[in-house]
Amino acid sequence: MVAKHLRGRDITDERVLAAMERVPREVFVPDDLRRRAYADAALPIGSGQTISQPYMVARICEELGLDGDERVLDVGTGSGYQAAVLAELGAEVHSIERIPELAEQARRNLLAAGAHTVTVHVGDGSRGLPEHAPFDAIAVAAAAPELPQGLYDQLTQGGRLVVPIGARSDQRLEVIVRRTEGAAVLRSVPCRFVPLLGEGGFEA
Ligand code: SAH
Repeated sequence: MVAKHLRGRDITDERVLAAMERVPREVFVPDDLRRRAYADAALPIGSGQTISQPYMVARICEELGLDGDERVLDVGTGSGYQAAVLAELGAEVHSIERIPELAEQARRNLLAAGAHTVTVHVGDGSRGLPEHAPFDAIAVAAAAPELPQGLYDQLTQGGRLVVPIGARSDQRLEVIVRRTEGAAVLRSVPCRFVPLLGEGGFEA
């Protein structure tokens, strides 16, 4: 997966490639889909949700440019896979999921994968996680109609937020850097994520 779908495309950050090599994706997919765990595809995980495509997980991690000492917020825990990869790259990871059953399953998956530095919360992650803010990096694995202001406000100065922005059906991954003079927005690749539902996202 790493050689073909990540290095073989345009992922070049060696820390990200090594992290993706270390996290066993098969732990995060349902048993009957395990043989497809290393395909470059999003796969169903129940409750109408999907585990993100490995390329998009790598792209998001690369855009965040983590050094290893950051506090990271992961919005849309899903299976917990992205959180596990972020845990390999940053110091402390808080992940938030709106569907309690998925959050519970993700906790089990993260334990099974040995990712002990991730805390999974249940709630509306489009509002961020004020009690643990500020964050050096925020990764959003669900699509928002516009920049969720609450998430931007919970970034440290120089902190980075990666979020798919656009319509429900297709988006572009945006990289937003918090600067004293205001937000710097860089556009990245076209993408297709499930909608972020809630206050800073689409209507549930
Ligand atoms: N990063 C996950 C991808 C899961 S798909 C993985 O690697 O498996 C996106 C997830 O975002 C879904 O589980 C969905 O329920 C969740 N989600 C959507 N809106 C949300 C919100 N406002 N707060 C928290 N989670 C949300």
